[in-house]
Amino acid sequence: MASSVCVIGSSNTDMVIKADKLPAPGETVIGGTFLMNPGGKGANQAVAAARLSTPLAGPITFVANVGNDVFGRQARQQFEREGIRTDFVTTDADEPSGVALIGVDSRGENSIMVASGANARLGQAQVAAALSAENEATVILIQLETPLAVVEYAIRQSHERGMRVVLNPAPAQPIDPAVLPFLHVISPNETEAELLTGIRVIDEATAREAAQWLHRAGVPNVVITLGARGAYLSSADGAGMVAAPPVTAVDTTAAGDCFNGALAVALAENQPLPDAVAFACKAASIAVTQMGAQASMPHRRQVDSLPL
Ligand code: ADP
Repeated sequence: MASSVCVIGSSNTDMVIKADKLPAPGETVIGGTFLMNPGGKGANQAVAAARLSTPLAGPITFVANVGNDVFGRQARQQFEREGIRTDFVTTDADEPSGVALIGVDSRGENSIMVASGANARLGQAQVAAALSAENEATVILIQLETPLAVVEYAIRQSHERGMRVVLNPAPAQPIDPAVLPFLHVISPNETEAELLTGIRVIDEATAREAAQWLHRAGVPNVVITLGARGAYLSSADGAGMVAAPPVTAVDTTAAGDCFNGALAVALAENQPLPDAVAFACKAASIAVTQMGAQASMPHRRQVDSLPL
């Protein structure tokens, strides 16, 4: 069965040490606890989409590059367990899998170092092959944790093939404004919206200004996520806040990733954009009530059982 959602992006292994304090340069901190979790924005979003997909949206295809090492093999197994199609998850002969070393102190403050490894070698040829084979995909979901030139290539090629591109411009970094008109949806958080537009987004009014900036740059549909407040949606059909269901958040890691995976599935199901954004808010509100990144991604029945 063809996929209608194709996620292109990064796969990392997050290695987390929780300790009383973060080490200063040259310092060793002893007494922490260690956790290892699958991560990477691309992989997180693919897992969210896979758990939320229905027969209408079909299986999720993930396009990524992992290393020829234990982390790459574990990541691939994890994708397969989630029912994600891995035909276009390649194994790099030279570069190791992407790794994030995360230190967390007793106040929840963190410091993170990322070695992109194989993610930095996700290539244009691989994306081209995936887009040719996945020519029935209707929604392409992509972030900025793989080489920008390849992201921009994927956006142009997908648009040319009549696919709807959802760009989650995370982590925050500048992108070539020439690709903005080829997007269907851009979905920054507040920080990313500010980096793209120069407008400091703190509330609905400033979200509106940033959305207008992005419309002028050529993006037809803008969704700015605003944490516990939900998201601001702006399109030709209107604009306004979509509220996040009130929940007690325990871990907001990968909330944005859950939101984007959910949004892509809802769009592939041809839900109208306001409904798709409401669905994404519901899914992400469940994710923040559970610990972890991929571990916190909800299944479809959990989202559908929440009241509207
Ligand atoms: P990111 O994780 O990229 O920084 P946000 O913090 O904006 O993104 O969160 C993405 C989405 O997750 C929000 O639009 C909202 O739907 C949901 N969300 C985040 N934090 C909460 C929260 N405390 N309560 C309910 N929903 C939340």
